[in-house]
Amino acid sequence: MILRPLSKAFKPPSTSDAACILLVAVFVPLTYIFHVTVVMPELHVVGGLWYTLVWLAALFVLFNITSNLLACMLVDTTIKKEILKPPLEPELLRQWHMCDACQALVPPRTWHCDVCDVCIIKRDHHCRFSGCCIGHHNYRYFFYFLVYMCIGAGFVVINASIYLWYLHADYYWRPYTVIALFVPALSFTLFASWENFYLFLYELNILAFGISLLMLIYHFPIFKRGAVMKQRNSTKHDLGLRANAEMVLGKRMHLTWLSPFLRSDLPHDGINWIPGSKAE
Ligand SMILES: [Zn+2]
Ligand SMILES: [Zn+2]
Repeated sequence: MILRPLSKAFKPPSTSDAACILLVAVFVPLTYIFHVTVVMPELHVVGGLWYTLVWLAALFVLFNITSNLLACMLVDTTIKKEILKPPLEPELLRQWHMCDACQALVPPRTWHCDVCDVCIIKRDHHCRFSGCCIGHHNYRYFFYFLVYMCIGAGFVVINASIYLWYLHADYYWRPYTVIALFVPALSFTLFASWENFYLFLYELNILAFGISLLMLIYHFPIFKRGAVMKQRNSTKHDLGLRANAEMVLGKRMHLTWLSPFLRSDLPHDGINWIPGSKAE
């Protein structure tokens, strides 16, 4: 695994990438603080068994959201032109193609990203929230980022719903709440309060849950076929669900949900693809 230099990994390639990264960087820790300090003390006895268990679970989810996102940004999945040598075998070489932008001969399933301005090995798509492309070497981290974002935001939405609509129903069940939810900027201008802020975080969590769930639903059939977004309907590299999952999550895929720090080597270098075979 090759890591990108920090100066590149943390330098968003465009303004929209910077805005999305900033949104996640602010939204995730604020949600955690809101959940642990505002919502949970009203649902469980502080310091009790349930409070401690939920707090530990929330910490685990927070750890996996942030560390998988950082791994996405740090792990280099771009071509390394200086070490990327075309194969000598004519059968393999025929599959390589020229990238005009990089002025280099690149492997099959490697495509250029106009935002990153580099070719990406087994490129899937450009992710605004990590400010980089998702490809062969960092798909695992992107996948778990989505999974944990979906679990975390979904859990917060359930608990915050109990907090807002049941425990504090007397305050939140009123017409003003509709304005605060649908036009948060107006409600903050009219009346800045913690309650408005909780509603704002609540709806951001609904959005985060919805978007991550939709992305998982969208990406799952592609993942299942061993394909990438550009060739989403292709079954050329379909090796069966288990082998396709291993191609993305690595040889110790059963452990990868625990942490991005657990080593799980990929069974393929992402360079010389032979359709229908696991590795050359
Ligand atoms: Zn290129
Ligand atoms: Zn990109």
